[in-house]
Amino acid sequence: MEKSYYPKEACGVFGIFGHPEAATLTYLGIYALQHRGQESAGIVASDGKRLRQHRALGLVNDIFREDVLKRLTGNSAIGHVRYSTLGDTSLANAQPVKVDYLRGSLAVCHNGNVVNALPLREELEQRGSIFTTTSDSEIIIHLIAHDEDDELTVAIPNALKHLEGAYSVLFLEENRLLAARDPHGWRPLCLGTLGNAFVVASETCAFDLVGATYERDIEPGEIVEITARGVKSFRPFEAVKPAMCIFELVYFSRPDSYIFGRGVHEARKTLGVGLAREEEPGFAADMVIAVPDSSNSAALGYAEESGIPFELGIIRSHYIGRTFIEPEQRIRAFGTRLKYNPVRDLIAGKSLVIVDDSIVRGTTSRKIIDIVRNAGAGEIHLRISCPPWRWPCFYGIDTPTREELIGSRLEVDEIARYIGVDSLKYLSLGGLRRAVGGDVLTEEGVAERFCSACFTGDYPTPIYEQFAKDMMTPRLFGDKMF
Ligand code: SF4
Repeated sequence: MEKSYYPKEACGVFGIFGHPEAATLTYLGIYALQHRGQESAGIVASDGKRLRQHRALGLVNDIFREDVLKRLTGNSAIGHVRYSTLGDTSLANAQPVKVDYLRGSLAVCHNGNVVNALPLREELEQRGSIFTTTSDSEIIIHLIAHDEDDELTVAIPNALKHLEGAYSVLFLEENRLLAARDPHGWRPLCLGTLGNAFVVASETCAFDLVGATYERDIEPGEIVEITARGVKSFRPFEAVKPAMCIFELVYFSRPDSYIFGRGVHEARKTLGVGLAREEEPGFAADMVIAVPDSSNSAALGYAEESGIPFELGIIRSHYIGRTFIEPEQRIRAFGTRLKYNPVRDLIAGKSLVIVDDSIVRGTTSRKIIDIVRNAGAGEIHLRISCPPWRWPCFYGIDTPTREELIGSRLEVDEIARYIGVDSLKYLSLGGLRRAVGGDVLTEEGVAERFCSACFTGDYPTPIYEQFAKDMMTPRLFGDKMF
């Protein structure tokens, strides 16, 4: 519900090898991934001899015009959309990052956050590296440049072994595309085909737009090399406990995508089913409505399981730009009203179950409830399709500080009072894990496959003090700070 301050995804990647319209298809690929980052976008294309690049601040459709794409000639390309979680919003930090160095040219783009980026950067600077951006991609490039081995399939794993944290990363050379996913597998990365060409993307919705076929996920800890000879897979890392981001399934990825081995819409419906199953016996309401669009699937699942009819009680405007002019006479909850409007005749006098995917700071949820109440709703029962968000994310999702997360400050009944609902319930952690199929049987017993640190505070890696400060979350880490 926190759509004015909601957690923001940090980047999407797309790559293609072996297609005469590589740059145009990459443009379409990152267009489909625009929800993963709206601050900047870029494409680097290769004609086999030279890499050409275009990057800018803004949305994909505004940046890439026909004349720009025509200049990006060649049969292979990688593209990126960015929302900054680390480093500022500047053109220098837009990706892909392209360099010319001793071994030729190389372009890199990634999705995720490297938690030991700052100590690594300091170490590299002491060894003479000069940085022009604050992006993790540049750290990866310097690590590769420092490696003694000229062969990229050796230098890349050598470089990536220094990193702790989340990265799904693409590399483009003149005649080769490589894709790597960190050993924990935080961010999704998929492999597909388009005729004789190969494609990689953060989510399969990008494959659908370019007409590609999803083949499989690139596995945690896997590096894939794509050349004119085909696809070669490497697994150079020691196996570690998987930590796929559970929030990709709850909120971030598009519902029409297929990630982590399952359809996102179907996974979200299962969350709604879980929520309905956790209701007290005898609980009743007139209708289930979603805070559109990201909660639609969970609300449908809730309605199906509970037998309470699903209705379109809140309509979302898809046409708001970045700026707007507010009338001098203040309208209550104006910013939220621009985006959401209730269907008055439908909800007046009715008891509602409103399903949403998260409460971050609580301020937007409160405004939406206010709008719905003013439209005449009777009882309002808010249901959230995941547990309370109590801890910031360090693996590539932009979240506020721990102090700003309402779930870390207040108990559930206090949050309900603050937001102004008659009842508030979150999906339990067990319910969430069951719904996404989080547990797997291993030789050691049952193991969790997903990262759920934003709910539990159990971070799968150390959190470095300097990194936490850079994320502007200097307090409340206690013994979680390393
Ligand atoms: S902390 Fe939460 S948002 Fe961040 S990677 Fe883990 S599950 Fe995803």
